[in-house]
Amino acid sequence: MSELNLPAEGGCRCGRVRLKITAPPLLTMACHCRGCQQMSSSAYSLSAAIPADGFEVTKGEPVIGGLHGADAHHYFCPYCMSWMFTKSEGMDWFVNLRPTMLDDPSWFSPFIETWTSEKLPGATTPAVHSYAALPAMEEYEVLVKEYMGQAS
Ligand SMILES: [Zn+2]
Ligand SMILES: [Zn+2]
Repeated sequence: MSELNLPAEGGCRCGRVRLKITAPPLLTMACHCRGCQQMSSSAYSLSAAIPADGFEVTKGEPVIGGLHGADAHHYFCPYCMSWMFTKSEGMDWFVNLRPTMLDDPSWFSPFIETWTSEKLPGATTPAVHSYAALPAMEEYEVLVKEYMGQAS
């Protein structure tokens, strides 16, 4: 596995939206939930939780897609419709970036996987921790410490 070199740039499938990260992820995840299966058009979604002050859209205007719900704001390229990142209401200190948007995603491996209760039979990941649904809120702090400790 190669390493994440910062700053790292990325963009959507068509390149109309570009972004840059300047901080390493707090946690990396794979989510097997039905919503992620549908929005990613794939078996599961991948996320890298990037501190909000280390995340920047450098070109284009991403638009809200997905469920347009009150809690999760899913951002897409308005032209190629790539699902690029997600912001959660009330949790503005991080952005869940789809790491495959980065020009070089080769460093990425999910540290945890969530919603394995909904996963497809053949969908396996190398995640260190698996959850049938989501970790409890208080577990995230421990997971971030563990992930950032092993990554540095
Ligand atoms: Zn695009
Ligand atoms: Zn999900």
